[in-house]
Order: sequence, then structure tokens, then C-alpha cells
Amino acid sequence: MLFITFSFLLSSLKPLLLKEKIYLSPPDLKGNEQALLKNVFESNWIAPQGPMITTFENNLSKTVSVSYAVALNSATSAIHLGLKVLGIKKGDKVLCTTFTFVASVNPISYIGAVPILVDVEKETWNICPVLLEKAILSEIEKGQKPKVLILVHGYGMPAKVDEVLAITKKYNILVLEDAASALGSIYKNQYCGTFGDVGVFSFNGNKIITTSGGGMLVTYKKELADKTLYLSTQAKEANTGYEHHQIGFNYRLSNVLAAIGVAQLELLNDFVNKRRENHLFYKNELRDVEVSFLEDTINTKSNFWLTSLLFNSHEIKEKVRLSLLADNIECRSLWMPMHQQKIYQFAIFYSNGNSDDLHQRGLSLPSGSSMSTNDLQRVCKVIKNCF
Ligand SMILES: *Cc1c(COP(=O)(O)O)cnc(C)c1O
Repeated sequence: MLFITFSFLLSSLKPLLLKEKIYLSPPDLKGNEQALLKNVFESNWIAPQGPMITTFENNLSKTVSVSYAVALNSATSAIHLGLKVLGIKKGDKVLCTTFTFVASVNPISYIGAVPILVDVEKETWNICPVLLEKAILSEIEKGQKPKVLILVHGYGMPAKVDEVLAITKKYNILVLEDAASALGSIYKNQYCGTFGDVGVFSFNGNKIITTSGGGMLVTYKKELADKTLYLSTQAKEANTGYEHHQIGFNYRLSNVLAAIGVAQLELLNDFVNKRRENHLFYKNELRDVEVSFLEDTINTKSNFWLTSLLFNSHEIKEKVRLSLLADNIECRSLWMPMHQQKIYQFAIFYSNGNSDDLHQRGLSLPSGSSMSTNDLQRVCKVIKNCF
């Protein structure tokens, strides 16, 4: 009896004991991170300023070919300051996709500006240009033209940049690009984050490169970069010490974390290539399963930050999601759109039903750059067993 109980216990523990957790998108610290950190400690630049920050900014602006970069403590802060330096004020209207992470939209609220949410198109899951123009015309008719568009490249997939910029140009609307998850993604030979008046990247722990937490604002305009730096470091007046003419923020990236960023950036191409290989592996291995992937179009080269796919129904998506979790594999349903969130139920929303459907049927799979072939096979096996 005792033996039976014991062996039952053992066999029920077995999956937990043997199956290592596969994370959605864990940090991949295989480069010069520790060497550069040692350098920071030895030089005593444990501060929100220092040479690593400058190096990180210079290297990133060179990598994506943009004139100026300002390192900040998160992409959320970068979006907040981006809106501020573009002159967005309380009561101004700000356009944004509804289908995104909440940090794209919250900075609109920080300022007391008004979010205008727009649904997505089916090809890239990013803002629908047709609906965008409808939204702008309708808001103009109501008496107030939106001042800026937050253009998100979701899941690393470039949005329909040409179509969107034609519209923002036509109506003279500024563009803040939320490329938080799209570092290294390319649209027609140009890096995401470099199309707008300002662009934003994230170095959160789950992004394509990480500083544990961090962000960057990039721009071609010196005055916008200078203003961002000024606001991010408590808005100190030059050469005075403690005199302030504006309300600033404490949003600068630490020199310690910038060292991690410098090392991670050296590996960006590797990371993009590996995530693109993950995507190909999944597509190939699941070719006989009834799913459809978010895929490149002829104009895009996505970094495939998270390989994401749609199932035929909510029920089968849930079955797969729960089976993966039971196998100690992390996965996520696609974003809950902002118009469905309690905090944004009041927001004006231009709908075509697409984002609701994506949230119902879509899933992101483990996509980290350190995944082994065995890991990828394990994920695919669980998915196939659901059919
Ligand atoms: C991750 C992410 C953010 C927030 O980035 P943080 O650096 O964590 O503040 C914003 N927008 C999108 C689209 C993201 O994926």
C-alpha cells in the first residue's frame, strides 16, 4: 500500500521533475555583458550618466541609421517624453491602434490627452490605414483634428508604413513610432523606429535585446533629442544647478544597465536571425495543422520577436494554450485590445472587428533566441497532440 502510494506520488511528480520550463522570451546573455559590467564597476560609473550611456546611444543610432538617440529607463517613459516633446497637451487627441500592449496608450493618459483607438488590418495585425483615415475625417468633423499618431509595430511586425505615412502627411499629423518590440525589424530597407518624428525602443527583459529594463528615444531632430534629455533629467537649467523652469522627470537609463545594452546590441543580428529561424521552424513543423501565422509581406523583414499564430476557433486556441501551460511551456493569448479594457472603455474607438477576433483565436509561442531545437520540437509536439 505504502509502495503504491509512493510510486503514484512519484509518477504524478514526474512531469514536474523532468520538464524544464520553456519561457516565452527570456533574456539571452551570451555576449560581453559581464566584461562590460566589470568595466563599469572598476571605473565607478554607477550612475545615471557615464560613458556606457553615450556608447549605447551612439551604437544604437548607428545601427538603425538615425541621427540622435536618448537612453531612458523604459519604452513607456520614452513614449511619455516623446508625446511631451512633440507638444502634446491635456485635451489633445492622440491616435493609436487598439491592438497593442497597454504601455502604448497609458502615456496618453499620463498627459491628460484623449486616446482615439483604431482597429487593425488582417495582414500585419497593425493599424488599418483605411480605418485610420475614416477616424481622422470623423474627428475633424467633430471639430478637433488628432495631433499625433502612435504607430505601433506589434509583435515586431512592421506596420503598413507607406499607406499610414501618406495619410498622416495628407492631414499633417505627427508620428510617434512605438517600435518597442520591433528593434531590428525592417520595412523596405529601412529600420522600424526611424520613420516617424520620434521612435521608441524597449529593452525590457522579454524584448529582443535587454538591459533588464530600459528604453530609447530616437529622432532626426536635434531639438527633440535635446528636449528629451532635458526632461528626462529633472529639467535642470544649464549651468545653474537647482533652477527649474519646467516640470521634469527622472527617466534616464543607468550607466550600469547601458553596459548590458552595449553588449546586447553587438548581438542584435544574431538574435534577429535566430528568432526568424524559430518562426520558420514552427511554420514548417506545423504545416499540416490548421493554423495561420503572422507572416512577412513583400515589404517587411520582421524580427519575429514573438512567433504568433491563429487557430480556427477560440476553443482550439484555449485547448492548445492550456496544454502548453500543463507541459510547463509559457505562451500568451494575443493582446486584449485596449477598447476591451476597463480603463479604456470610455475611449473613442473605430472598429472593424479584427482585433476582437485576433484576441479570441490568437496565441504567441515561445520565441527566445536561446531556444534549442529540442525546445521547439517539444512545443510543436504539444500543439500537434491537440488536433
Ligand atoms: C514592451 C512594449 C512596451 C513597453 O516597453 P517598456 O520598456 O517595458 O516600458 C510598449 N509598447 C509595446 C508595443 C511593447 O511591446
